[in-house]
Amino acid sequence: MNNEKYYQTTTLPYVNANPHIGHTLEFVQADVVARFKRKKLGEENVWFNLGADEHGLKMYQKAKEKGVTPQEYVDEYSKNWKEFCDLFLISYDTFYRTSDPSHHKLAQEWWLRSEANGDIYKKEYTGLYCVGCEEFKTEKQLVDGKCPDHGVEPIVVSEENYFFKLSKYRDDLLKWLDSGEILKPDHKKAELKNWISAMEDISISRVKEKLPWGIEVPSDPTQVMYVWFDALTDYINVLKDPTEFAREGFDKDAGIDNWWPGVQFFGPDNLRFQGGVWQGMLASFGVAHTRKLLNHGMVLAADGTKMSKTKGNGVSPFEQQEKYGTEAVRFYLIAGISTFADSPYKEEDLKNLYNAHLADNFGNLLNRVIVLSNKYGIDYSDSNNIDSEFKSKVDGFVSEIESLLEKFELQSAVQKIIELASFGNEYISEHQPWSKEKTEKEREQILSNLAYLIKNVAEQYSYIIPESANRALDMLIKKESGVLFAKID
Ligand SMILES: [Zn+2]
Repeated sequence: MNNEKYYQTTTLPYVNANPHIGHTLEFVQADVVARFKRKKLGEENVWFNLGADEHGLKMYQKAKEKGVTPQEYVDEYSKNWKEFCDLFLISYDTFYRTSDPSHHKLAQEWWLRSEANGDIYKKEYTGLYCVGCEEFKTEKQLVDGKCPDHGVEPIVVSEENYFFKLSKYRDDLLKWLDSGEILKPDHKKAELKNWISAMEDISISRVKEKLPWGIEVPSDPTQVMYVWFDALTDYINVLKDPTEFAREGFDKDAGIDNWWPGVQFFGPDNLRFQGGVWQGMLASFGVAHTRKLLNHGMVLAADGTKMSKTKGNGVSPFEQQEKYGTEAVRFYLIAGISTFADSPYKEEDLKNLYNAHLADNFGNLLNRVIVLSNKYGIDYSDSNNIDSEFKSKVDGFVSEIESLLEKFELQSAVQKIIELASFGNEYISEHQPWSKEKTEKEREQILSNLAYLIKNVAEQYSYIIPESANRALDMLIKKESGVLFAKID
């Protein structure tokens, strides 16, 4: 019996646009880890959350533009995002939505807890607000008076708001960051520590008259919570009350104490919020800090520049999926895109990696072993037939792969799976089970060894390409030859 519980969550994107390739990377990375953990810890001990961030000025304005209510607007988009997750085989347990009444109630409870701790105060404030970022900007952050990410001038917000005493938690956060391997990749730590050392109190509410689409401040109905302050609490709220968000068949014990601290996946723009603001909030709530922060890199255009709408060099995950299929894209995102560093998306690489490692290397080995065993009438299913030296070599690979997955080193883990399949191909070339000189017993030994290797490769691949990996196992058991991975032109 394994009682270790594992909880992980991605960020909850704003659902005012369709998912881009960066979201796909984040979701697929998280999915690979979730599938691996389920295998190790058991289905009932793993909880994988993602969802949608549905408040804020951006949503409110977009809904107005379209002539629908904000709720109608976010309902429609959330549906798209869920379908997107299904398309990419993302095996989430809960899809959390911040417009849900249960989230409203819990976000208000956290606010009150923070207020009781003396961490919330009211202050007259004037600031420059970028609606695209849903964030206040300093003059220094602007380029020609405009937000560099959105190319628009921020609006001037002058009102009396509530502030959160983030600065109170500076030392606490710095100490926590040094207490272990909290953040990956390691080199981002200096950047985060710099930010934390200089962090100031932040505005956490807006006047409701100006922004009616949000969660009311519990002690002051004239104000709504700043979208970040409400949305970040979703990571723990879902653990308290998952009923509205769970997939069919979900029957895990709810409760923060059972599951938190968890692991968080997020992108390059999110480091300060996940590693700074959110951690300060947790401290204020009296809840433990995140167990592990995984900060993936940016997916760049093929030429290594940032993808942008104006340049039109973006990659659409929907287009890629249609062109190459779900699993080819999943495989490329893990094997071809760096797990933590910024990395260009090149269709040429996608094709090459797929053809070389799945079609030629693994697919070919699988088919050869099945064809040969059918030809010579060999049963390779007896696990007692495996040569002990060969077995320990394969098991060695598997334990290396698993230890890389434990460390969230996904790209290196695939590299090892590929090496294991290559070892199988070298072995078959070297031992030539088709040779006339081989006895039946020798043939049986070679093919049994290889069947064991293939089974292990397929099991490790099942986190990345679950459908093909299951098909491979099925073919192996039924001794059904054929082309599992058709080459991509
Ligand atoms: Zn902006």
